[in-house]
Amino acid sequence: MPLPLTVGEKAQMKKKHPCGGDVFTLERVGADVRISCDTCGAQIRMPRREFEKKVKKLLQQETEKLQDVPAEE
Ligand SMILES: [Zn+2]
Repeated sequence: MPLPLTVGEKAQMKKKHPCGGDVFTLERVGADVRISCDTCGAQIRMPRREFEKKVKKLLQQETEKLQDVPAEE
């Protein structure tokens, strides 16, 4: 299932960038994804499928987790 990706969204990757940072900002979303390292500013481009495999979590989807909390009866 494809991840809903939005430009400007931040993503934490499974593997750290050589600079030590693991948070990236989505710069462009399409068949290819371009991300920039929040720590050093380097830009990386990769196929979307590869990005989806490498991403650990999207940091602006935190609010959606609230929906997973079971409602009290
Ligand atoms: Zn970096």
